[in-house]
Parts: sequence; structure tokens; C-alpha cells
Amino acid sequence: ERSDVHYFGAGPAPLPSAVLERASQALLNYKGQGVGICEISHRSADANEILADAKAALTSLLDIPEDYEILFLQGGGSGEFSAVVYNLVGVWVEKRRAQAEKDLSASTDAKGEALEQKIFERVQREVKEELRLDYLVTGSWSLKASQEASRLIGAEYVNVAVDSRKANNGKFGVIPSESDWKPTPGNKAAFTYFCDNETVDGVEFPQFPKSLEGADAPWVVADMSSNFISRKVDVSKYSVIFGGAQKNVGNAGITIVIVKKSLLPPASPQAAPELLRRLNLPIGPIVFDWPTIAKNNSLYNTLPIFDVWIAGQVMSDLVSTYGAKKIAGQGEISAEKANIIYGTLEQYPNVYKVVPDKTVRSRMNICFRVNGGDEEKEKTFLAGAQKIGLLGLKGHRSVGGIRASNYNAVSLDGAKKLVTYLETYATGA
Ligand code: PMP
Repeated sequence: ERSDVHYFGAGPAPLPSAVLERASQALLNYKGQGVGICEISHRSADANEILADAKAALTSLLDIPEDYEILFLQGGGSGEFSAVVYNLVGVWVEKRRAQAEKDLSASTDAKGEALEQKIFERVQREVKEELRLDYLVTGSWSLKASQEASRLIGAEYVNVAVDSRKANNGKFGVIPSESDWKPTPGNKAAFTYFCDNETVDGVEFPQFPKSLEGADAPWVVADMSSNFISRKVDVSKYSVIFGGAQKNVGNAGITIVIVKKSLLPPASPQAAPELLRRLNLPIGPIVFDWPTIAKNNSLYNTLPIFDVWIAGQVMSDLVSTYGAKKIAGQGEISAEKANIIYGTLEQYPNVYKVVPDKTVRSRMNICFRVNGGDEEKEKTFLAGAQKIGLLGLKGHRSVGGIRASNYNAVSLDGAKKLVTYLETYATGA
């Protein structure tokens, strides 16, 4: 029975039972129409209402300022690894082209094709010499994102400003201090990318990096797939926040992007495909093109409205639960659950070892080893947990060990049951 278990899967992850109960009704008969929610048109008034409600709930939870747009896309977090590059490089190039046009029209007599050629040559030179994308590699997902950037545009444009493995014997688990980062000189990268919570490695940024604050900093892009809506976030510090829905928000199928309107038309047009083609820069699929998605209210093509509905229900319930506290209310619970679990692990240092450094350990994905990482013993640990209904605790296949994912839908009661099991196992009681 569902009520007999607590599920700590890393994603897909547990969803609130109350939402799933409403969902089962909605699947059969949405709003008493005799038609299910997966059967209605994505262009219907109902679908538009579902979208508007989900956006309103998210806006309220995170206090998203007016000058941000919320987009719903497909392609998962991984799709956004690519979309970030396509979109932001496109904006960067267009800004440089417009500036070159302004400068050269004023400073030369060149007209028509001759002027166009001069503009092109200057942009081409600036791309080669100045276009750089900074990545903070603090775990396997930021590593994947940086690799995708290299694959799309070429490694010569990608600056890995930090690779935390170098500071930790080849393994993820720390975030070196900002003074040790090597951003593009002058902090002049087009954007700085980081993963706020590394799902596999259990590493989370404790706060927004100081060196990325301020008007002169590069555009800041954060992957919040695995800690989305789990704590207070000052959205105004970011240019782009994205996250797949399948951990804290809903089921797999949609990715949420919060993007500053100044990076979208009309404020910031993207470079024309012809120009990008001449510059040997990538041109993204239209379904990843944020301006196109924004212009069409996320309905450029068929959006899985059911997935948006689930996310909307989860978020609306958080709005009602936490009232004026908004997402900070969830933040308190998330911290409390994480604290009791880490606290218990630390009480038995001979049995448990938390993988990441204490200063950066994740509230969402609690990664630890049992009995010195003895695989047989970890299997026994997992089997014992499973027997009492504590599921989904196996670590990621790439790193092994145990991972307790502590997303929003894991109740305080579930965290307490895990604590009791940790004590029982450690004491052999
Ligand atoms: N980023 C993070 C932090 C993730 O945890 C994941 C998936 N677990 C991804 C990106 C990739 O997401 P998807 O599987 O939706 O492409």
C-alpha cells in the first residue's frame, strides 16, 4: 500500500498523494466534462487556465518579479543544457552585431554590402576572441552541461571556471572558495552557469555566489532541477533558472524555465540564423527557442497539459499550506528534515560517512556510505530499509552508496522513520 511506504527516490520522485488522487479523477473526467485531462486540447480555454494557474502559483511562491517570464518546455533538464547555449549565444551575438553596426555606421563611410562585411568581420573577431561561457563544475550534472556546451559550440569557447574534483582527490564533494575560481578574465564571460544542487553527488550551493552578484557580472544561469521550490531564492539575481519537474514539482515531462525578459525580444533579439550559420555557431531547434516559446505562451507546439496541471496542483497546495511564508515555509521543513537525517548519520561515524563536505551538503540528496562503503553491507542496509517500507535509497549507479532524496513530498514523518532506521541499523538493535 502507498500509505505503508516512504519513498526517497531521486527523480522521478514522490508526489503528494492528495494531488495524485485528484489526478486520477482528472484523468477520467476533467471538471465533469466526460473527457479526461490528457484528452483536452492544449489550445482550449481549460488548458490556458491550467497554464495561468501554474504560473501564478510559481510566481507567488518564489516572488518572481514582473520582468521575468515563465516558460514550460519539453526535453528535460538535459534539453535546457543545450537550450541555454543556443539562446544565450544568440543574444550575445546579436548584441555585438548591433553594437558593431552602430559604431561602424558612425565611424566609416562604408554602406550597403561593404558595411555589412565590416560588421560581420568585427563580430567574427569578437566571437573568436571574446565569446566565452563559464561553467562551475561541482558535480556530474554541471559537468554534463559543460560537456554539452563544448559539443555544441566547441571546447575553445567553454571555460571551466572551477572543477571541484581537482580540490578533492578527483571526486566531487566540495565547492572551492570563490577566490580560487578562474572566471574568464575580467569576469567577462557571456554567462556563468552552475548547478544549484547536484543530485548525484549531494552537493548544494549554500548561497548565491558573491562574485556573480552585481550589474557587471555575467548573466547567471542556474540548474535547479533537484532543489526547485525547496527554499527561498532571490530570482532577481539570476538571468535564467531552469528545472525539470520530476523531483520537487511534478512528473517527468515538462521543464520550467524562468528567464529575465531583458533576454527575450523585443529587448534582446536573437542573432539571425543566417549570421549564426556564417559564424559557425549552432542554431537550436525551434522547440528550444525561448523567444518562440514565450511568444506563444508555451503553446508553440503540443504541451503536455496534464504535466503542467500536476505541477500547478503541487505548487498551489504549497501556496495554501505556507501562506505568507511562501516558499520559505517549505525551506524550513526541508532544512529540518535534512538536519535530523545528517544529525543521525554524524552520531555514528563508525557506521556512516556522509560523502560531501559538511559546508556544501545538499538538503535534497543526502549521500552517504555505510560500513566504509562495503557493497555487501550496503545491500543489507538497503534490504533492511526496504523491508520496513523505506524505498528508493540506492545511490546513483555512477557513485554507489546510499542516497536519501529528501524532496518536498517526503514528509517529516518519513524523515523520522528513516532516522529511526539509521539508529536501529547502527546500533544493531
Ligand atoms: N540537472 C539535474 C540537477 C538533474 O538532477 C537532472 C536529472 N536527474 C538533470 C539535470 C537532467 O534532467 P533530465 O533527465 O530531465 O534531462
